[in-house]
Amino acid sequence: MTVTFLGTSSGGGPSDSRNCSSLVADVQADGSLWMVDCAEGTLRQFALQPYGTHRLKVSRLSKIFVTHMHVDHTMGLVPLLRNALGMPQESDTAKPPRVEIYGPAGIRTFIRSILKMTHTRTADRYVVHELLSANDEVTPCTPPEVMHSSECQGKDIWAREEDGFWRNFVSKGNVAVDAGPILHRAPCLGYVIRESPPLSRKIVVLGDTNDPTPILPLCLSPSLLIHESTDACIPHSIDPNSSAKRTTETVEAKVRERGHSTPGMAGSFAKLVGAQQLVLNHIGSRFPAPLYSIPRRVRDTRVAVMKEVERQASEEWGMGEAQAAVDFMRVEVHAVREAAPGFDGGLEEEAMKVERGVGEADETRGNNGRGRGGNAGHRGRNPPTDQNTMQQPEREDT
Ligand SMILES: [Zn+2]
Ligand SMILES: [Zn+2]
Repeated sequence: MTVTFLGTSSGGGPSDSRNCSSLVADVQADGSLWMVDCAEGTLRQFALQPYGTHRLKVSRLSKIFVTHMHVDHTMGLVPLLRNALGMPQESDTAKPPRVEIYGPAGIRTFIRSILKMTHTRTADRYVVHELLSANDEVTPCTPPEVMHSSECQGKDIWAREEDGFWRNFVSKGNVAVDAGPILHRAPCLGYVIRESPPLSRKIVVLGDTNDPTPILPLCLSPSLLIHESTDACIPHSIDPNSSAKRTTETVEAKVRERGHSTPGMAGSFAKLVGAQQLVLNHIGSRFPAPLYSIPRRVRDTRVAVMKEVERQASEEWGMGEAQAAVDFMRVEVHAVREAAPGFDGGLEEEAMKVERGVGEADETRGNNGRGRGGNAGHRGRNPPTDQNTMQQPEREDT
């Protein structure tokens, strides 16, 4: 079971080093891919990914989970679907949907409208299942004429009255998916992908949030928590370009007001749920990834800043070393077995490791051997010594 990050920027991006939000997980043994969020440019990220044994194929996509409707999470959906569903040939309306999409109210209309407005036709079909809360409006799939010609009739999945969660709305093989609401400026969801025993791996992917506690009961003891970390206060000694006006307090107040989190907030939630592994995602445009294609001193500053972001999260988490995601980073979550009878330690972590999408081992090659500027790992680096680079135009994060 692995997770690969295709885009790790907040809505202030995309930038030279990060595309906006998307990740894929291969949670089934059949090689299919499940995606969470699909920013503009996600299709191209498949083409830009490093060559190697783990190269992902669009054709393997079978499910897409959308956390919320903001543009930095949705605008890649239609181009991706168009590619994944193929060029139209002989139409076969009896075909089951090839890609299933789950998301909040509005996602069905969004995809249907753009497909219709752009006169897009595809060979295979898709379906949208909406996760609805009490006050949401249903987007009908009847009469059939209201749908797009490539669309199958989707389900309207209502949150349970007793707790507001969508439990077990996907169940395939030994993997099930739950969802719950989290707080953001727009209605937003977190997804929990979990295996049944004995492996019991559990991945929690949160959308944008300034407070994910409404979903907390679904998230306990995850093998991997993926939490946004849009902004952070970086000391001047680490980032020479950081403004003195940006204090820990002002940054946190502003990030909360915008519906987002700091690394410390992510670390706190990881501690609250007892996460075994924490990855920070949805990184603000202020924090570009350390590419190999940029000058060494510039890169060193970026490395040091990202190390500081990780440190702040780890300090609050207190259970390990948090990792800030970079595009094409691949996280492998190994088996977590149930405790042996009589052992009082709950779950025992057997093994867990992270592979960077373009590994740190490549560092000595200078340009990761591909000539296209991969992302440098940022562990074990020295603090910066120059005045370069953190200056990025600030854009609204969504
Ligand atoms: Zn966002
Ligand atoms: Zn958002």
